[in-house]
Amino acid sequence: QATEAEKTAAPVLQLVGIKKIFGDFAAVDGIDVDIREGEFVTIVGPSGSGKTTLLRMLAGMEGPTHGYITLRGELINDMPADKRPTCLVFQSLALFPHKTVGENIEFPLKVRKVPAAERKARALELMRMLRLQEHYYGKNVMRCSGGEKQRVALARAFAYDPDVLFFDEPLSALDYKLKKALEKELKDLHRESGKTFVYITHSLEEAMVMSDRVGVMNRGKMVQIGTPEEIYTRPANRFVAEFFGEVNSFAVTRNETGIWRQSDGGPLAVGSVDETIGDTATVIVRPETMRFVMAPATADNVIIGKIYNEYSLGSRMQYQVHSGERIFLVEAPRAAATGLSAGDTVAIGWDVGDAIVVGD
Ligand code: ATP
Repeated sequence: QATEAEKTAAPVLQLVGIKKIFGDFAAVDGIDVDIREGEFVTIVGPSGSGKTTLLRMLAGMEGPTHGYITLRGELINDMPADKRPTCLVFQSLALFPHKTVGENIEFPLKVRKVPAAERKARALELMRMLRLQEHYYGKNVMRCSGGEKQRVALARAFAYDPDVLFFDEPLSALDYKLKKALEKELKDLHRESGKTFVYITHSLEEAMVMSDRVGVMNRGKMVQIGTPEEIYTRPANRFVAEFFGEVNSFAVTRNETGIWRQSDGGPLAVGSVDETIGDTATVIVRPETMRFVMAPATADNVIIGKIYNEYSLGSRMQYQVHSGERIFLVEAPRAAATGLSAGDTVAIGWDVGDAIVVGD
């Protein structure tokens, strides 16, 4: 985690009004972001939202059609990838197939004409950092497992000694367990190395686990950037709220007294909300803040329904509750869940403070 001093430090990378237009289509449509020294920033967004295009511009594989990219204050819009003090790690890894683990890791050092003994010492040091056993040094890289190849690719990226490392979904091809392990290792590696990481992924979970800040892209725009906590608890709009997991959502209208009420006359009511949102909005109640309650059916924020189905989430349960035409999701811990099953009539509710009001 970056200290307060680092957080206020001058940005390493600064993006001002960045656009990439292909024909008449804006793949990246005006992005302003400052990335600070030593930060781990993850960019998430649905397929086609422009993540890869943005990363390619940062890494120097493409130039922006509008805007400026500066690295430590220097304009780098047209600086080729190999001249930038940055390194990109792909999902495909792009390892040299007929070479050993050691040769792969040492490649950047060889290009820089570092003497052989020094190269080997550095490669072994990086292998230790990446938890690759020493005897892998002479092993053909194609005989390594998926996770080991991933570590070799990371070690090679570090051998460039870049200021900023870019990652394009490097873990997406791995199985769940290995992916989870490597997410944590990457975060450790980030902390140990003190480098700036910019990472793109489809996976929200991955973004939440690893990052200092998460940027959410939609249709070429950065719709929100903030800490995982901010993005989760204070989503900027409905898109972000719904992107970050399953939700219960209600269309609401503000009444004369400033209280939001459910537009279709349902029981939902929320007080004191940001005046800037407008007169209609969406209220989001996450399944984990929705609860089974004992309350009269006529109370505000209480819905009577029937359990339609139940799903195990491992340590918790999720219930699907049907009420009229609507379907709600309620998460409950296993212990509290005992005794409830499909067909039961239940009252569900939430604390008003847990409801998130977002503009549409
Ligand atoms: P994914 O998660 O599927 O990789 P993404 O968010 O990385 O998606 P991009 O690959 O950046 O999205 O693509 C954004 C949009 O720009 C897409 O609609 C894509 O078809 C378009 N696009 C990307 N490269 C080009 C190109 N060279 N010419 C024309 N359109 C392009």
